[in-house]
Amino acid sequence: MATTTDAADTDKAAFAARLKEFEGREVGAPEVGADPVNQPMIRHWVEAIGDENPVYVEPDAAASSVHGQIVAPPVMLQAWVMRGVRPRPSSGGNARDELMQLLDDAGFTSVVATNCEQEYHRYLHLGDHLSTTTTIEGVSDEKATALGVGHFVTTRVDYRTDDGELVGTMRFRILKFKPGTGRSSSRAQEEEEAARPRRPRPALTQDNAFWFEGARQHRLLIQRCKRCGTLRHPPRPMCGECRSYEWDVADASGRGTVYSFVVNHYPQVPAFDYPLAVGLIELEEGTRLVANVIGIDPGDIRIGMPVEVEWVDHDPDLTLPAFRPEK
Ligand code: ZN
Repeated sequence: MATTTDAADTDKAAFAARLKEFEGREVGAPEVGADPVNQPMIRHWVEAIGDENPVYVEPDAAASSVHGQIVAPPVMLQAWVMRGVRPRPSSGGNARDELMQLLDDAGFTSVVATNCEQEYHRYLHLGDHLSTTTTIEGVSDEKATALGVGHFVTTRVDYRTDDGELVGTMRFRILKFKPGTGRSSSRAQEEEEAARPRRPRPALTQDNAFWFEGARQHRLLIQRCKRCGTLRHPPRPMCGECRSYEWDVADASGRGTVYSFVVNHYPQVPAFDYPLAVGLIELEEGTRLVANVIGIDPGDIRIGMPVEVEWVDHDPDLTLPAFRPEK
């Protein structure tokens, strides 16, 4: 038995050493940005994001700012060297492809992105033209994670101007892992059933605690302004109609309609069943709330469908309303 373990350890060490050889290798040829930093792309970006900082779009405001000119939002960094919808022809094999193939062949066929860090060395100005070089910065030893045993691979992308000035760096980490080796799919399936992960806790505040307390008692409450009677949800301190801070609650009938909905397939969070139907339910009292839609094939859910509340006690501390088609 000990011998087998030693042999396995030796194999692992040998494999890890092969992976380490990739550290420091550059991945393919540099990628060159299609367009220099430009105002239209910045404008579309900040409008989509909802960032109203004038230094990105208003020349006068930018000129009188610390920047002295228009700058690009730092988080747009990746946008300046993206490949676009139609990828250019591949420049052939590269170190990253080789590394991925090596991991695939060893059974680490699944992949998940784990984190991304960006460093900005200076603000980008209109006309800056960027290109990137990508380097495999690190390959970890074998790690046991909740998803499975695997190796973390970190690549570093350096963003440079045509003059060679380093203006930004991005580190992107993935986990290449063996499917079926994680905690959720091990032979401890029965244990897992017994200790099913609990649903995430709501963020309780002094404004919304009454609502979740009501749910524990299977009461669907709607906050009501004491002065003008306007109903509101989600809970908040002040009436939007008359600005009164005085409020009490009304009990909802529990009947409503599906105002909108999504059916979530991925990413799958352990405490939930998938496909997961999440509805925006319009109560007959007029307020809307987000809740799971149950008792129906998610493919059959329709906007406007009449629904009624059904209380789901997820665990001793958490009861939430769900909605099923009205009988
Ligand atoms: Zn009011």
